[in-house]
Amino acid sequence: MKTHKTREKSFALFGAPPAFEKPLPVAQLYFPSWERYEAAMRGIFERRYYTNQGPLARQLEEQLQQFLGVKHAICVANATIGLMMAAEALNLKGKVILPAFTFVASAQSLSWCGIEPVFCDVNPLTHQMTPANLEKCLDSSVSGIMGVNLWGGTCDPAAITEFARQHALPAYFDSAHAFGCVVNKVKVGNFGSVEVFSFHATKILSATEGGCLCTNDDDLAARLRNIRSGYGAGRPVDVLKTANGRMSEAQAAIALLSLEDFPENQRNNERLRQSYEVCLNSIPGIRVVKPSGVSFSNYQYLVCEVDEKLLGFSRDVLLTLLKAENVICRRYFYPGLHRTVEYISKQQMGADLLPVTDHLCATCLQLPIGAMVTLEAVETICDIVQRAHLVSELFQSVPTQGRQ
Ligand SMILES: *Cc1c(COP(=O)(O)O)cnc(C)c1O
Repeated sequence: MKTHKTREKSFALFGAPPAFEKPLPVAQLYFPSWERYEAAMRGIFERRYYTNQGPLARQLEEQLQQFLGVKHAICVANATIGLMMAAEALNLKGKVILPAFTFVASAQSLSWCGIEPVFCDVNPLTHQMTPANLEKCLDSSVSGIMGVNLWGGTCDPAAITEFARQHALPAYFDSAHAFGCVVNKVKVGNFGSVEVFSFHATKILSATEGGCLCTNDDDLAARLRNIRSGYGAGRPVDVLKTANGRMSEAQAAIALLSLEDFPENQRNNERLRQSYEVCLNSIPGIRVVKPSGVSFSNYQYLVCEVDEKLLGFSRDVLLTLLKAENVICRRYFYPGLHRTVEYISKQQMGADLLPVTDHLCATCLQLPIGAMVTLEAVETICDIVQRAHLVSELFQSVPTQGRQ
């Protein structure tokens, strides 16, 4: 009993001071140095030019084209509107297949366009969708396939595109997790009809809010530029709907600095990840998920699977005990989109048809990685998990939260 009491004292969940004084964020959260930010903003003030495809937005598009080796990079206000613009430009109707194991915006972009998302399952090892998963969801009202490249890896976009081609369907990709990643010497951004990146603050390339559409198809690019807005459209072409998906100069300024620092931020992620891997993979019941389908990863996420039996307590208990230590982790993604209030009634196909997604939603945990995280922080986090595993009986009756 005595030893248990002492051990309890070393966890914030049982009243000890938290391991981190301030909450450690889970996401990339890159901030350029103040001096560089100030110089960029001064330029905007001197030019008196806030938005409408200004010089910084144009420069960012050119640099992205070069960096990604893609013909057209079309910057937008965020990836969600980028995905909506893609569905509109591809003239998608009826149903579009995508995995349920993704962020809600992938499916919401379809709902906004009056398209019904049809959710497929994913591979249990890679967490990525496969042609076999897609096959099960095909019917005559499917008009396209949205591939999702997860965790700084990919769903093998060449194979997904080939599967779509065989069924005379367009394939496009939500690549919000995969900026800078490489597949067989080809940068992500060059696959399918169009790929959509997010430059949200939590992603490796940050514009605070932002994103971009990439395509090698000149006509599609012209349509997308016209859909984005009447300003800075380039070659005018007829489109039925237009939006305001423009990226402002302030967003572009941050994105340009972030692009310059991409190599450093990628290396930082990779270093942190190596340290996590060595330590966490030695703890029974924890498996760090490898980004699959890439030869180079941005390591934007650190995701692990928790095996409750081997670890001694559940993923949700691990989340609760880390949160008490001021380590912000996420059940990413939870719940699967097929079980969210937005879509549950539409999925007539019975609740249990996506067993892998259900399993991953119950066992995956995302841990902090990115510009705000140090190697020491990773060591501290791993040490907490290791110590908790050794006294796992203390954690068995810890109450956990519901949806968060
Ligand atoms: C972040 C993210 C989005 C949405 O990006 P926004 O720029 O915030 O609109 C879409 N899909 C996935 C998989 C994401 O991670």
